Amino acid sequence: MASFSFTWLGHATFLFQSPGGKRIVLDPWMTGNPSSPESAKKLGDLDLILVTHGHSDHVGDAVPLARSSGAHVVAPYEVSVWLQGKGLKNVTGMNPGGTLQVLGLSITMVPAIHSSSIEEDGKMLYLGVATGYVIKFENGLTVYFAGDTCVFGDMRLIAELYQPTVAFLPIGDLYTMGPEQAAKACELLAIKQVVPMHYGTFPALTGTPAKLRQLVEPRGVQVLEMKPGETAS
Ligand code: ZN
Repeated sequence: MASFSFTWLGHATFLFQSPGGKRIVLDPWMTGNPSSPESAKKLGDLDLILVTHGHSDHVGDAVPLARSSGAHVVAPYEVSVWLQGKGLKNVTGMNPGGTLQVLGLSITMVPAIHSSSIEEDGKMLYLGVATGYVIKFENGLTVYFAGDTCVFGDMRLIAELYQPTVAFLPIGDLYTMGPEQAAKACELLAIKQVVPMHYGTFPALTGTPAKLRQLVEPRGVQVLEMKPGETAS
């Protein structure tokens, strides 16, 4: 079995390749994303699209990507209904606490502290709660993808219940946690590797991987800083 690899497609968008070869895109936003690399335009075959919440910088390309790839979409319940309203058929809605067994993967929706809405026809449409995901791959490797959130004490429960080895955490500040809270999150999650996301896209997102590194490396946590388009494993 090959290992888990992941490509940063800018902002909070990632392509995961599971040890069993499943291709998963998380929070697809390419159109209008200033940090989206050229490679994000042609992702090829996809098995699954995971959406954490309704904001346009997380769901913006879910509909065209699901249409062109035929991938199954998993989203918070209200977002799933909204996506079905856009004509998507292969959509599963979830709520925090639920685990979906699909394609040999175990996907658990977990809480996030954030809002979830989209602007349509000049009106704000609320789309339920914001969420994160814990993904257990075919070989047992478990990762936590936080979505947009602040730090919260129940990250300790995520550590206790699922023992993720890698966490994907937002660090940009303003709309999510910044590096200081992300450092606390690493401690609560008891992880040794963190992939920072949701930073550098706009000037308003001021958190940096350097700041996170300064806070967590003395405690033995590795910060995997990526460039958009880069793949790591
Ligand atoms: Zn958001």
